Amino acid sequence: MKKKFSIKDHTAIIVGLLFGFALINAAIISILGARMGGANVFFRLGHSNIPMNSIQGLLQTFALMLCIIMACVDCVVGARMAYFVVAFLGFSSILGMLKNKNLSPLPGVFNCLLSFVAIMIIGYLMRKAKEKSITDYATGSYNAIGFIEQINKRFREKKSGSLIYYQINNFRAINDDYGHEIGDKVLHEVSDRMISVVGKNGIVGRIGGSEFAIMLNDKVDANVVVKELFEQLNKKMVFDNEGVHLDCYIEGNAGIAHFPHDANESNSLFKCADVALMHSMKKGGNNIAVFDENMLSKMHYDKEIEQLIKRAYDEQYFYLEYQPQFTVNDKRLRGFESLIRMHLPDGRRISPGDFIPVAEKSNLIYTIDEFVLDYVTKKFANIARESDITISVNISANGISRPEFVSIVETCLRKNNFAPEKLEIEITEYSFEDSQEQTIINIKKLKELGVKVALDDFGTGYASLSRLMNLSVDLLKVDKSLVDDIEKGEVNRDFINSIGSMGHLLNCKVILEGVETDSQIEYIKDLECDYIQGFVWGKPVSYEKATEMIS
Ligand code: C2E
Ligand code: CA
Ligand code: CA
Repeated sequence: MKKKFSIKDHTAIIVGLLFGFALINAAIISILGARMGGANVFFRLGHSNIPMNSIQGLLQTFALMLCIIMACVDCVVGARMAYFVVAFLGFSSILGMLKNKNLSPLPGVFNCLLSFVAIMIIGYLMRKAKEKSITDYATGSYNAIGFIEQINKRFREKKSGSLIYYQINNFRAINDDYGHEIGDKVLHEVSDRMISVVGKNGIVGRIGGSEFAIMLNDKVDANVVVKELFEQLNKKMVFDNEGVHLDCYIEGNAGIAHFPHDANESNSLFKCADVALMHSMKKGGNNIAVFDENMLSKMHYDKEIEQLIKRAYDEQYFYLEYQPQFTVNDKRLRGFESLIRMHLPDGRRISPGDFIPVAEKSNLIYTIDEFVLDYVTKKFANIARESDITISVNISANGISRPEFVSIVETCLRKNNFAPEKLEIEITEYSFEDSQEQTIINIKKLKELGVKVALDDFGTGYASLSRLMNLSVDLLKVDKSLVDDIEKGEVNRDFINSIGSMGHLLNCKVILEGVETDSQIEYIKDLECDYIQGFVWGKPVSYEKATEMIS
């Protein structure tokens, strides 16, 4: 990482003054030095004899100026070199004066004094700038540069320990709900709590927006520290915002990597801890994962998938299947959910459950969402106009929260002449996690266009009732995990039934997904549920089969 330090703000005045002094010094040396030079040694230049201390003084002045310039342009190496030249010349001129026992008047004494004042001030500025360059503004702990320096130092000392990578999951929501000032206070509080848990056993740094890193020495067990950390971080945070008390709760995940066992340099160590963090996230909030080699092979697999997605459009790896949805009572076709598939030339099929999460980690998901939208609205345009079916398209959480999303949908509908009321956009509760406001705006705009909105995987997350009431979605899709338990007992059925009643109360239709058996259907008939989707009545099928089912 490039090391930089900058001298700014009030320090600019000091630097300006130093620069002025250096110029005056240069003038004094050049004008008076030759006449008043007290040294006995002369340097012959053409016909003139120039006193040696004048030359030395001039050099010193130029080095000093260079030092200031270098410091101003953030060139730490240049500033340091010039700094040492000033120091060297300053010392040598003192030695010279001591040796000659002749404290020469101007420019020698003035020059020496100036040099030492300059050395002290520049040294102070450099130390300050260095400190600033390794400190995080929001928390006062190490920033990424400072933290990595500390890790590298530990590697150089051949010491062992562990790295904890911690991420606050709901930080964007905190920023959106309470504003950036409170966001910064949350970061500070998190850092303070971490420092108090870690104590003298390690160091804490903020290395990204809501990402923290902790380096622990080998005397402590990282798992124990993280558990204690979660306990402290999960406690309520109270902030004062213009006289109003705000209660704030955070939720996060942590990945742990050990060094030198997992990696012997900082980059790889961070990667290992990051991979572990990703794994912990799959288990939900407030979870920990410790890095192991298998995680790396998963990472390599994901990398391969990423490459495949990039090639998928040109090489035509993607195709779509359509899973029918039926009314519960009379098994009438309601429509189809479009499901993307990847088929490779070597015969391998990669499930969307594998490649969608990889695409979601980057912008690749936007292209997939747009591809499916365009493909489906083009393919079904005529059929949708002529029949009474609804075609659903899954849109990722990132996709629905893009400001340009609705105009993309609009363009697709217009271009392919697709009837908006026949299109349904399926989103999940995760769509509200990061960019709540934009998602809500987009849903409203979609509804204005006449497009339907379905809330997928309902019952697995934490969709609040109040949010549902404000959203007015058209369809609640009850998650398969709840449907799987339908035969287990009354309580499970009551739960689904209450979701159904709630949906109906909010004017939504309700569909159960992942229905696999006839006996499940028997129970479902008694529940508040409008439609079902599942292998029992229809697996995902090709476009040709889907159109046959419609006609
Ligand atoms: P999802 O949206 O919840 O889709 C339903 C998944 O459940 C589909 O898996 C479907 O094949 C499967 N399923 C339906 N009925 C049954 C059943 O009775 N039993 C069982 N065992 N499974 C059933 P699929 O196609 O593998 O898709 C997995 C996930 O991938 C989807 O979950 C969705 O989150 C994502 N996905 C699929 N296609 C797309 C797409 O075009 N765009 C985006 N963004 N995501 C997609
Ligand atoms: Ca879906
Ligand atoms: Ca689903």
